[in-house]
This record gives sequence, structure tokens and C-alpha cells, in this order.
Amino acid sequence: MLRRMALYTAGLTLLVAVLASGLIGLLFLASGVQRAGPVQVMLFCAAVCLILAPFVLGPLVLLALRLRELSERLRQAALTDPLTGVANRRAFFERAERLLDDAPGAPTHPRFAVLMIDVDRFKSLNDRLGHEVGDAALAHVAGRIVDSLARAGEGGALVARLGGEEFAVVLPGVGPPGAELAAEAVCRGLRSAPLVHRGHRIEATVSIGVWAGASAGIDGPLGAADRAVYAAKAAGRDRWVL
Ligand code: GH3
Ligand code: MG
Ligand code: MG
Repeated sequence: MLRRMALYTAGLTLLVAVLASGLIGLLFLASGVQRAGPVQVMLFCAAVCLILAPFVLGPLVLLALRLRELSERLRQAALTDPLTGVANRRAFFERAERLLDDAPGAPTHPRFAVLMIDVDRFKSLNDRLGHEVGDAALAHVAGRIVDSLARAGEGGALVARLGGEEFAVVLPGVGPPGAELAAEAVCRGLRSAPLVHRGHRIEATVSIGVWAGASAGIDGPLGAADRAVYAAKAAGRDRWVL
């Protein structure tokens, strides 16, 4: 960053110095100041411009770089779920599309897996302990999902909160056996690490719908995974269904 900033400033300084010295030199000559030769006049002007330019251009370049950094931060904030730190719904669909483009079998039959993850009996947790504890539980669940997937060797997975207490995961290039392992890792990761928050021990579990196969789009697989969530709920929760 600093190197690029120095290069920008140096480049701009040089350019402005050359242009300004040429212009000022011409003005000098046109105005009839003839005691010094034209080359000396231009060299003098170039030197003055070179000395002054960084003071004028430096802050401008700094400002431009700061603006760029801020706009990047804003972009990131617009794509991140503030409560859990994972991707939000909008980022999920944008990034999933890109992941599918690069998945094996793309562009016609990209192979990947989808996990739809729904926290079990979350409403009753909110009702019993309050919304604030519910929020802490959601952040905890997101952290456990990311951590469990990383431990299962799926650190490149896209994890997002689609809304409420529902998360989605895309695993590019992963088939049914890998998807089952990933889903099991998430269930186990939550069972093995309950949240302790303000004296409450919260044992959150999730039901996961798993889809794995080849599809040109994400919507069909998401729908299938969503239906599998209902099957997991009906079968008793705290489990995954392919
Ligand atoms: P199930 O096991 O069938 O999924 O039951 P559930 O209670 O988890 O499902 P339900 O859809 O009935 O309730 C989801 C609850 O999630 C209701 C809503 O108040 C709560 N919720 C949604 N978004 C948030 C949030 O951002 N923070 C908190 N604390 N609660 C939320
Ligand atoms: Mg739900
Ligand atoms: Mg739920």
C-alpha cells in the first residue's frame, strides 16, 4: 500500500513538474524575461515544481487512497452479515454463482454440494432466554459451522446466513460422501461445543438438508436441500438428511 502510494505520488509529481515547468517556462519567455536562457528558465521552473508538487499532490493521493479503502470496506460490509460475520444472503448468491463457474464440470454440469442448516427450536430459545441470548447463539452457531468445516478439510466452503436462523453452505467439487462428512462434522461440532453465555449453557443443535450432484444453477439444489431440512426435522432434529 505504502509502496504503491509512493509510486503514485512520484509519478504524478514528475508528470505535473514536467508539464508545469514547460508551461511556466513558455510564459516566462513569452513575457520577455530574457536574462537567463530558455533551458535555464525551464530547469529552474522544473526544480520549483518538483519541490512543491509533493506538498500539493501528496495529500490528494492520500485522500484518493483512503476513499478507495473506505469504499472497499463499505462493499465488504454490504456483503457480510453483521451478527455472525459470515456472508449475507446477497453475497451468498453472488459468490455461489462464481464458485459454480469454477467448479469441476462447469459450465454445463458443475459438481458441488449444498447444506441447508436450520437451528433447532430456536424460537423457544428466544422465548426462554431473550432475543439477545438468541443473537449470541446465532453467532456461536455460525462460528461452529465455519470451524467444523475447516476441521473437516472444507475450509474453502462458502458459508452464509440466508436469514433468521438459517444458514447455507456451498461445497464446490464435493460429492455425496464428502457432503455427508461435512454435514456430520457440523452436527458434531455443535454438539461438542455448547455456548456458555452470561451463565447460561446453551446446547444448540441443527437440522441439515444435504444435496450433492451436478446442476447448472443453485436454486434447484437449494430447494432440494430445504426439503431435506424438513425431513431431518420430522425425523427428530439434530441430524442431517441427504
Ligand atoms: P424448528 O426446530 O422447527 O426450526 O423450530 P424453530 O423454533 O427454530 O423455527 P421457527 O421458524 O418457528 O422460529 C425461528 C425463530 O427465529 C423465530 C424468530 O423470532 C427467530 N429469529 C429470526 N431471526 C432472528 C435474529 O436475528 N435473532 C434472534 N435472536 N432470533 C431470530
Ligand atoms: Mg427456520
Ligand atoms: Mg429453526
